[in-house]
Amino acid sequence: MISKREALDLLHAAIPQVGSLGLETLPLAEALGRVLAEDVAADMDMPPFDRSAMDGFAARSGDFQNGLAELLVCGTVAAGEAASIAVPPGSCVKIMTGAPVPADTDVVVMVEKSEELPGDRARVRLRDAIRPGQNIAPRGQDMRKGEFVLTSGTAIRPIEVGMLATLGCAEVAVFRRPRVAVIATGDELVALGDGRPGPGQIRESNGHMLSSQVADLGAGIEPIHLGIARDNPAAVNAMLDTAFAADVVVLSGGVSMGEFDYVHHTLKERGLNVLFEQVAMKPGKPLLFGEMTVEDRTVFVFGLPGNPVSSYVTFELFVRPFLRGLMGFSGPHFLEMAARITSDSGGKALRRTQHLPAKIWLEEGEVLAEAVTWNGSGDLRGLLRANGFIIVEAHEAPPKSGTRAAVLIGESSTLRPPHSSTRDY
Ligand code: AMP
Ligand code: MG
Repeated sequence: MISKREALDLLHAAIPQVGSLGLETLPLAEALGRVLAEDVAADMDMPPFDRSAMDGFAARSGDFQNGLAELLVCGTVAAGEAASIAVPPGSCVKIMTGAPVPADTDVVVMVEKSEELPGDRARVRLRDAIRPGQNIAPRGQDMRKGEFVLTSGTAIRPIEVGMLATLGCAEVAVFRRPRVAVIATGDELVALGDGRPGPGQIRESNGHMLSSQVADLGAGIEPIHLGIARDNPAAVNAMLDTAFAADVVVLSGGVSMGEFDYVHHTLKERGLNVLFEQVAMKPGKPLLFGEMTVEDRTVFVFGLPGNPVSSYVTFELFVRPFLRGLMGFSGPHFLEMAARITSDSGGKALRRTQHLPAKIWLEEGEVLAEAVTWNGSGDLRGLLRANGFIIVEAHEAPPKSGTRAAVLIGESSTLRPPHSSTRDY
């Protein structure tokens, strides 16, 4: 049995080079949530011309005395027009936000600081503390032609979509999403829609939960939910035949020491290179991870413990970071931070790292946490009240009220960072 740290190190070392799944080109409208697979440079200066930041008047700073000028209005420049108009001394032009500033002028005075003068010809009095260049965004201020603005590996958020549109990218290269197959195993499992469980049976839930954890990675990733494999080598093998078309296979159940736990044996017989299969943590001790070659592709396989909470937690701690790495995301998806514990946590010191489902919230700038009461790894209901975990290192006692402890929050829907000052969200 290896420690959680060692297992995570092996996991990270196994993440293939970014881009190993290949690239695809998408219309910009479909790129949200994906990871950019190219460096993108500016194809023009931004702003592309000296641009007015205000509705007002473009004038010559030399015409002002003590912040005051009375000028002839010799024209109007609207946004979208070229600023070819000449502005002789003693004159100005009416200008709109976003319009190019005429070459002869070097200041824009906002309309609120102007006053029309009576008379036949259009004249204005402008009153402002004049500073050359004021209210003008100079050409190339934001970016210069040829400058790299976005780099490969960037997650595409709405801001990046806006930037890519600015850069003229109607299409973008992104990393291909991994195909992830999900299989539940167990003779006791009844598929949703197949009636009420009979004696000794339970409803299959992990397949649905794990599939939605995959989907929760975003980027429109679609899990391949393969259903239930029964507890015999032929059934597991048949399911794997289909699953191996995917890049990553996630199985739940059948990886512990029971007489009918066939998943690990079957996988090893088919040539799985096991990277680890027992991790010193609770929940989640039986946790299989390996890779195998299927027709010169590498397929990664996770065998998660069948208890629903164990399945959930091991996905979040191991499968999610692996898939993120494979998708090309950089950086961690967890925040580990210290929290003040507000009530005694149950349980005792173990030789394994424990993850206690917990409520974590912010109150007056402080992170607070309390373990939720739950009945162990089968109790998915207990997990409903949690939005993160208290980490208890091996050989340490679960934290008491008033002490500080490490907590884990992250990006998945259940592990949202605390954003509320109530423990009841
Ligand atoms: P296993 O890892 O196969 O020994 O299963 C451990 C426990 O989790 C048993 O109580 C199983 O009935 C339960 N279990 C296994 N797979 C699922 C599943 N897909 N949905 C709900 N419970 C499961
Ligand atoms: Mg089982």
